[in-house]
Amino acid sequence: METLRGISVSPGVAIGEAVILDAEDYRIPYRSVPSDAVGDELERLSNAFDTAVSEVQAQTQQLRSNLGRDAADVFDWHVGVLEDEQLRKSIEDLIKEKQASAAYATSTVMRNYQRRFMQMKDPLLAERIKDVRDIERRLLRNILGETREDLAHLTKAVILIAHDLTPTQTAQLSGTKVVGVAMDAGAATSHTAILLRSWGHPGVVGLNDVSTRISGGDTIIVDGTNQLVIANPTEETLAEYREKQIAHGRLTEELSELRDLPAVTTDDERVYLMSNIEFPSEAQTGMDRGSDGVGLYRTEFLFLRPESAPDEEEQYEAYSQAIQGVAGHPVTIRTFDLGADKYTQRQNYIEERNPMLGLRSIRYSLQNLDMFKVQLRAILRASVHGQVRLMFPLVSSIMEFRQAQMTVNDALEDLEEEGIKITNPIPIGMMLETPAAAIQVKDFCREVDFISIGTNDLVQYLLAVDRGNERVSQHYTPSHPAVLRCLRDVVRACRRAGVECGICGEMAGQPLYTMFLMGLGLQHLSMAPGNIPEIKKLIRLTSLAKSERVARRVMTFETARQVTNYLRDETRKVLPEDPI
Ligand code: PEP
Ligand code: MG
Repeated sequence: METLRGISVSPGVAIGEAVILDAEDYRIPYRSVPSDAVGDELERLSNAFDTAVSEVQAQTQQLRSNLGRDAADVFDWHVGVLEDEQLRKSIEDLIKEKQASAAYATSTVMRNYQRRFMQMKDPLLAERIKDVRDIERRLLRNILGETREDLAHLTKAVILIAHDLTPTQTAQLSGTKVVGVAMDAGAATSHTAILLRSWGHPGVVGLNDVSTRISGGDTIIVDGTNQLVIANPTEETLAEYREKQIAHGRLTEELSELRDLPAVTTDDERVYLMSNIEFPSEAQTGMDRGSDGVGLYRTEFLFLRPESAPDEEEQYEAYSQAIQGVAGHPVTIRTFDLGADKYTQRQNYIEERNPMLGLRSIRYSLQNLDMFKVQLRAILRASVHGQVRLMFPLVSSIMEFRQAQMTVNDALEDLEEEGIKITNPIPIGMMLETPAAAIQVKDFCREVDFISIGTNDLVQYLLAVDRGNERVSQHYTPSHPAVLRCLRDVVRACRRAGVECGICGEMAGQPLYTMFLMGLGLQHLSMAPGNIPEIKKLIRLTSLAKSERVARRVMTFETARQVTNYLRDETRKVLPEDPI
């Protein structure tokens, strides 16, 4: 049994067999093995080579009968490489000399081998790089026991183990038999983590080397509540976790009883709990969890698919579905927040040195006006079906906001010329996610109809910590006093200006911060639908007066640790049974 600790993205317990995904596309990190395990690693290597040779030979035979000799010759070359004594010896030497894992040694030697081909002037030989990569993948697959099953066709519940998942890969998990995820990379507010949260199954990220420690077929427990992943548990541990799984299900059921009750404090303060959604169908899911509408629709997820970009009609359909899903409640549609870790099909090919500081969000839309206008037209057309609000992401200057607003007016005029008149008013707001916007909040209040604070980005830019990088995740915390003071000043400025201010970063869905946020005066909290019941329960058990005292006290601390400890104690007094 092996226990690994990471960062939780959603609570609960999942149990299943491991399926390891995409270990082939990254460099395997160095892992040493104890001296008495070197023999085992050599055996794993030898088996991997034998299996690879048989696989390729079978494939060659099949190709020969189906496609003829030429196609099959390519694989003869693969067999030649796999039977190269010198190559195999280099890998064995690395295992013996450095006590390296078979996966690491194979990957290292094969990458060196690839480099030799890269340097070749002859284009035909240079083409061989792809074949060498293919061989490397095959060997790694055999060493790591990887199951290359198509996720859509799994027949039993599995835990997906990956080095990293892109938001696109994550988006494809719903509807599969995957019941839990564990990943080497990632942090709590990375977009992959956000998607995992909305998918709703337990997940732990930031585990560093889970994808090389676990083999396909191992029994895995993902304990999302306590941020643990347990491989090959003992019978006793397994039984204990099956109990926990049942208890978690019971808690979820209890919370669902709050669905139709409002989020009101004991001293009658009404708080609006909204859903953050990535897909239109989630609008309805949010309502089923007891939300008051959609506070953030991340529309860029329409782009995160391998095929072409969504056209106006497809977008219109998606926005209309979200609006209809909330039956008359408000839906705040955020325009595309593309860039950084979320790419369009085209953008994929343009690398940036600092993508988080690069062409992302509203900047990207304003540089791709045709695409932006298509989106605005689709939103405006869909707005006739309900209460729609429009919001721009990552605004960092007044001019940027005005330019975006002007583009909305252009789209309205174009529609009018075509005979489509939009008469209902559409409030236009912005996300406050940059220190620049926070500092200039008073000026922005004169321009906008509402503000929604995106703490996921605000924290990363205030603290200069990449929100998706597990290596610095210990520095990424909304509890940092600089973040808390910034929030206080922003909320205060909005109140004075009479502008609605809400929050839609992940912080809004963490019970730890609920009293603090209410105490600041925030009445609109937008979060993953799965978090709504618990936050509602907490709000209904506490008072605004108490929350204000908590917020005042929090402001006196100098370190994030003091803040977290204090908030944890205060939250536990209200929700003693919850793991916070
Ligand atoms: C945020 O930055 O807090 C936010 C809600 O937007 P996203 O997580 O999509 O960047
Ligand atoms: Mg953001």
